[in-house]
Amino acid sequence: MNEKIARFLENQNPATPCLVVDLEIICRNYRALAAILPRTDIYYAVKANPAPQILDTLVTLGAHFDAASYTEIEACLAAGADPARLSYGNTIKKHRDIAKAAGKGVNLFSFDSELELAKLADAAPGARVMCRILMENGDARWPLSRKFGCTPDMARCLLVKAKDMGLQPYGISFHVGSQQINPHQWTTAIEKTGSLFAEIADAGIALEAINLGGGFPANYREGVPDLENYGTVIMAALEAKFGNSPPRTIIEPGRGICGDSGIIQSEVVLISRKSHGNDERWVYLDIGKFGGLPETTEERIQYRIQTPHDGGETGPVVIAGPTCEEMDILYDKAGYSLPLDLQIGDKIEFLSAGAYTSTYASIGFNGFPPLDEYYI
Ligand SMILES: *Cc1c(COP(=O)(O)O)cnc(C)c1O
Repeated sequence: MNEKIARFLENQNPATPCLVVDLEIICRNYRALAAILPRTDIYYAVKANPAPQILDTLVTLGAHFDAASYTEIEACLAAGADPARLSYGNTIKKHRDIAKAAGKGVNLFSFDSELELAKLADAAPGARVMCRILMENGDARWPLSRKFGCTPDMARCLLVKAKDMGLQPYGISFHVGSQQINPHQWTTAIEKTGSLFAEIADAGIALEAINLGGGFPANYREGVPDLENYGTVIMAALEAKFGNSPPRTIIEPGRGICGDSGIIQSEVVLISRKSHGNDERWVYLDIGKFGGLPETTEERIQYRIQTPHDGGETGPVVIAGPTCEEMDILYDKAGYSLPLDLQIGDKIEFLSAGAYTSTYASIGFNGFPPLDEYYI
């Protein structure tokens, strides 16, 4: 937790649970990504954290935006984003939402199926379209490998068809999986995409862009490679496949922009043991899976946790949320240890909790309100 956030918490003493985001870190992360991939356009994946303060900040920096819904498109426009800088990247869209987006001037859409292509041809005639291909998500802590994309073979047919339907076949997109800790996953993906580019060129269609997706990591419990590594590996793969004339490249970072920008402060509600003589403590917090931490599902995203007693002796814990729901257990198998001095009423912080938290909070499950948010 940086000093700015620590000072805010000390001075304001906000009710918990709450998310506090430092907008300066958003700027820093945006600039760091721009620096490692200097010829690549950054489309912020709005779904990671759509707070107006974040969108405003990124508009000022000249970002592009990837929206998952028409509501997110409206949020970007309200922040002052140019519709020409927006992409509607969800492959699952209603016909009427496509039409509304096109009506606002959005001209870049993703698809991965024939019937979605038909919707686009009808609702956004002439638009630029990108086909998403399936990608193995090895080494991703939050895989996105099955629900989105089609095989390269199908992508080729659909992009040819897109042209016949009056759309502009613009490029190919993929996602190597969120919290991708192995930059070389992009190497494989770029090789596959490059081969597909060549096949499609043979079919008489010159694609213009590759969308390299998101996947850039935040700093959780497990270490991740330096960001520079991602840039080096991706640029080397592009050069190996495309030489001196690469297509336009796009990245869509969500977690990599806002993950490290904020913390969640929570309060210890109860500490218990399940039997006499059992050292394992159950620590119940005022936030859980339904309060904004569903990425703890299967203990996949393992946040770093800070307590007021750090440095003291620790012991094993199970960490759970406050609701009357058995699945509301955050960490059981992941081997978390917390200080033995931890008390009911202590404030603890989940670090790097700026992505995929605020909008994941339920609106009132068990009567708990959504997460309070502060952008400073
Ligand atoms: C979720 C998503 C992203 C963002 O992924 P991160 O791993 O958070 O960077 C980018 N592109 C698309 C199409 C997505 O669905």
